[in-house]
Amino acid sequence: MFPISRFVSESAAADLLQQVRWRDGVECPRCRSDPTVRNGSYRVYQRDLCKNCGRTFNDKTDTIFAHSKLSLKEWYFTIYVFLRVNTSIQQIEAELDLSYRTVRRRVERFARALDAPSITLSGPVEIDEVYVSAGLKGRERDQESRSRGRGSYDGDKPPVFTLADRDSGDRYVVPAKSVDGSTIRLLLADHDEELLTVYTDGFRAYDPLDEDDAFTRKYVVHGDGEYADGDIHVNTCESHASLTRRWLSPHRGVSKDKLTPYLKAFQLRRELYRKPGDEALKYALDAVL
Ligand SMILES: [Zn+2]
Repeated sequence: MFPISRFVSESAAADLLQQVRWRDGVECPRCRSDPTVRNGSYRVYQRDLCKNCGRTFNDKTDTIFAHSKLSLKEWYFTIYVFLRVNTSIQQIEAELDLSYRTVRRRVERFARALDAPSITLSGPVEIDEVYVSAGLKGRERDQESRSRGRGSYDGDKPPVFTLADRDSGDRYVVPAKSVDGSTIRLLLADHDEELLTVYTDGFRAYDPLDEDDAFTRKYVVHGDGEYADGDIHVNTCESHASLTRRWLSPHRGVSKDKLTPYLKAFQLRRELYRKPGDEALKYALDAVL
């Protein structure tokens, strides 16, 4: 359910930030020491004084929410509908009556603050790549590009890898500069078992895996009209790639240098998918604090 109270009351919004940020007690953002005392408030935000270094700080100090034109409740609304409802920046701008630039900068500041997914594989793993239209600034909708051949980073169709771990159920979406053996090996590097089973299509960029003792590669050749041979397929990747396209679609024209933050946000969206509204919002806050 929509955590409405957090979007209408700034003090309810501040309460939530306190809950998440100071879960393990208040700590000075400058010197990391914890003997702090309450020191009044800054507007509705609690202010504290560090007994070690003498700095005063409030709930928002040294977070992405500090020194912002947006109130916390506007921030929360923006983050929430961006992640959960896949709302476009134009639509958020209209709902909040803010400028497009303000909303876009906040969304991107949030997304950049997220950690890149750390890939740990147990396998078997499917890996595949898609090419997304980037940098077209809304002039052209992203289209299925497979039929139009492979793209390139320089040609504004950067490759994006999808990985699907069939054991853990984890999915990863990672943009790359190129599709080559070393990039692929790096993506697959962190795995529990000594020998990782990897399913790919017949694209030759995956050929080096055949020579590598760390992997058992099995593949289907799509060109032969073959899409699956028992367990050997990349269908999970392909359906995840189509979710990725849908995610990027309202933000069409995301430039390639911003693809990484938008895809980190997509990763987060999946993690909070089934959580109730208030939990989802807490989870999203925790991810940037
Ligand atoms: Zn301090």
